[in-house]
Amino acid sequence: MEALWSAALPLLRQQVGERNFSAWIEPIRCVSGNGEVCLEVPSRFFQEWVGRHFLPAIRETLTQLGGKPCAVRTVVAAADDPHARSAPSAPASAVNREPARRPRAPKIGRLVPHYTFETFVVGDANEVAFQAARAVSADPGRRFNPVFLHGGVGLGKTHLINALAHELLRRRARLRVVCLAAESFINALITALRQDQMNAFRDRFRQVDALILDDVQFLAGKERTQEEFFHTFNALYGAEKQIVLTSDKPPAAINGLEQRLRSRFEGGLIADIHPPTREMRLAILHAKAGSRGVTLVPEVAELLEKYGGPSVRELEGALNRVMATAAVRGAPISADLIETALRPFRRARPPVPVEVIQEMVGARFGVSVGDLVSHSRARQLALPRQIAMYLSRRVAEASFLTIGEKFGGRDHSTVMYAVRTVETKRVADQEIDQIIAAIECQLRDLPR
Ligand code: ADP
Ligand code: MG
Repeated sequence: MEALWSAALPLLRQQVGERNFSAWIEPIRCVSGNGEVCLEVPSRFFQEWVGRHFLPAIRETLTQLGGKPCAVRTVVAAADDPHARSAPSAPASAVNREPARRPRAPKIGRLVPHYTFETFVVGDANEVAFQAARAVSADPGRRFNPVFLHGGVGLGKTHLINALAHELLRRRARLRVVCLAAESFINALITALRQDQMNAFRDRFRQVDALILDDVQFLAGKERTQEEFFHTFNALYGAEKQIVLTSDKPPAAINGLEQRLRSRFEGGLIADIHPPTREMRLAILHAKAGSRGVTLVPEVAELLEKYGGPSVRELEGALNRVMATAAVRGAPISADLIETALRPFRRARPPVPVEVIQEMVGARFGVSVGDLVSHSRARQLALPRQIAMYLSRRVAEASFLTIGEKFGGRDHSTVMYAVRTVETKRVADQEIDQIIAAIECQLRDLPR
């Protein structure tokens, strides 16, 4: 039971987020039960909170990992249990647990300890953003100001700004750093307005050396917040303090953002993070497994790369799931195990139709679907056609036979040849690899 619980921890961490995890999941202790999982929690309040917010996720994760329904019970640790006394009941608990190793803290906000530059895998897709973050951490407020990082969900923006903040504080412990979700900024502002404490709010956010705000797309449509943020921005910028912002889209694409803020955001360095290429995805898998003492054999890494989902977050989730399943079953990570561990997730969404893939690939290369499925041997059609076939296999998971039919009645061996050709080209040609990664990401993100 304890093994099952330990295996579930990384999965839960990903589901509930770092903050909830350290506050509510980490303090739980798994004590053995008779065929059921018994979780010991430090207090009644804790028990109620976990029961209401996290128990369903805990049950589901344990059930999936164990491969059979899992009964879960929580108990409050007895008062004379030393564990109970040392475990506080408030979310602050995690802060007190490892004071020695804890990195220096920002003035406002909290950092995720392991989101550092060292654990960030760099490649073509994120190189510019990475270099910008490095430069800023070495010389805040001077070279690039503001820095605006944007990119799709789960591609590493939050990781990168945490790394930046860690590094700022490592170099100068007394630097006043704010690293915060834009939503928290909005909430703090609302509270200050309600309690008539705007002066204190302004002092708090303007007397800092670096302001790092995550997910500023959430400022959209919030006029009062934007007004206040505009003044904060100007005050800091004028004093040569560093400003770093992230968003899921570039400034120009954020609807409901005031023009004057948009032009401020565009006034510095804008760097975008692209979906990782196949090569990077493999590097990320090896790095993440390696950091947990597991070496992936190449075939296994390839399979995980293939089934792991488009973003780094999903890729990491797939790896966690596979490692947890291997731990629980006491089995090595094999093709079979990957299949078992990831099957419930792969079936969760209906496949993308081949027709959609044809349209998207056609649009990307400026050729019509009619041309793609035609038997024309025009040279400019060969690569897009092969890529569309490849993605039909990889994303739609259609059979070679079906793909052949949908591409103007071609033979299945032609499709197999196309898939192999593209696989080789992806390895040999960075540019092609990137184009395919981007299309694949778009395809997998389509609403279905
Ligand atoms: P975003 O904020 O862009 O949605 P996150 O920063 O939360 O994405 O990243 C999602 C997960 O993927 C995190 O666990 C993060 O550590 C990991 N991750 C993203 N990019 C990388 C990378 N280049 N190297 C290592 N881990 C990464
Ligand atoms: Mg984020």
